[in-house]
Amino acid sequence: MKGSEFVIECDTVVVAIGTMANPVLQATTPGLTVNKWGYIVINEETGETSRKGVYAGGDIVTGSATVILAMGAGRKAANTIHQYVMSL
Ligand SMILES: Cc1cc2nc3c(=O)[nH]c(=O)nc-3n(C[C@H](O)[C@H](O)[C@H](O)COP(=O)(O)OP(=O)(O)OC[C@H]3O[C@@H](n4cnc5c(N)ncnc54)[C@H](O)[C@@H]3O)c2cc1C
Repeated sequence: MKGSEFVIECDTVVVAIGTMANPVLQATTPGLTVNKWGYIVINEETGETSRKGVYAGGDIVTGSATVILAMGAGRKAANTIHQYVMSL
């Protein structure tokens, strides 16, 4: 927005962005297989996790990646979730 820029005088800038798996996930979700970095392990074809009826995709599976990859994973998982729900 025009005129919204401003300058802050400083010596150091620390960029603080969260780009890692939250360890709470592993601690609070028994039966959910994660890899050594804490990201969820899935069936790449379907998005299924080790817990029945639980699907995952995006950064929590791949680690920091891109929006387009996350969207693709969501699309894939949605298809599998649909098939799963219809089979109940
Ligand atoms: C600074 C920065 C810049 C980036 N720039 C680009 C770019 O230019 N182009 C690009 O393609 N990608 C970019 N990325 C990467 C992109 O943002 C991610 O790959 C993408 O957002 C991953 O989507 P996701 O749905 O997997 O995860 P997220 O977008 O992180 O969504 C996860 C959601 O889950 C929510 N959540 C977390 N814990 C819980 C909980 N316990 N209960 C309920 N909800 C929860 C979070 O609040 C969040 O809304 C950038 C990332 C960062 C950090």
